[in-house]
Amino acid sequence: KMARFPWVKTLEQFDFSFQPSIDRKVIRELSGLSFVDRAENVILLGPPGVGKTHLSISLGVKAVEAGYRVLFLTLESMLTRLTRARMENRVERQLQQFVYPRVLIIDEMGYLPMSRDEAGLFFRLLTRRYEKASLIITSNKSFVDWGEIFNDQVLATAILDRLLHHCTTLNIKGDSFRLKEKRKAGLVG
Ligand code: ADP
Ligand code: MG
Repeated sequence: KMARFPWVKTLEQFDFSFQPSIDRKVIRELSGLSFVDRAENVILLGPPGVGKTHLSISLGVKAVEAGYRVLFLTLESMLTRLTRARMENRVERQLQQFVYPRVLIIDEMGYLPMSRDEAGLFFRLLTRRYEKASLIITSNKSFVDWGEIFNDQVLATAILDRLLHHCTTLNIKGDSFRLKEKRKAGLVG
C-alpha cells in the first residue's frame, strides 16, 4: 500500500500533554477508523509546529495497517500533478489516481493561494470523493480565511459545504513543538 509518507510518526509518539487543546477522546475515536468506513473527513487546523502533519500521518499509518489504500500529498504537489496532467490531456486519469485511495491526506492547505484553475481542479476532486472516501486535510488557516486560499468566496463556500458535511475538525491551539525543542537546546529564548 503506497502511502508515500514523508516520514513515519505514530500516535504513540505524540505527546498529548504538550498540546492540551487536542481532545484525546476525539483522537482515540478517529484512530478506530470508523470515519474511513463512513467516508468522513478529518480537518486539522492550527499554526505551524503544533503537530498537524504528525497526526495526519499517524492516522494514515493506522489506516495502512488496517489494509486501506492511503495516499499522502502536499496540496502543492497535488496541484502540480493535476495541472501538468491537464496540459498533457490526461487530467481524468490523474484525478482518478487521487479519487482511488480510501484515505487521501492533503497536507499544507493554505500556505500558498491557488489560481482559479487550481481551485477548480480541487473542487472536481472533492466532488468525486464526496461521501465515497475520506480526506484528511491540514491547514494553517481557519475556515473564515479559506476564501483567500481559493481566491473565490463562492467556490470556497461550495468546497467547505462538502468538506464539512461529514467531518471531524480539530482546532489545535498551542505552541510549536519545534520551538520547544529548540528552546530546550538553548537555541532560542
Ligand atoms: P505542523 O504540521 O503542525 O507544522 P508537525 O506535525 O510537522 O507540525 O510537527 C513538527 C515536528 O514536531 C514533527 O517532527 C512532529 O513529529 C513533532 N511534534 C509536534 N507536536 C508533537 C507532540 N505533541 N508530540 C511529539 N512530537 C510532536
Ligand atoms: Mg505540517
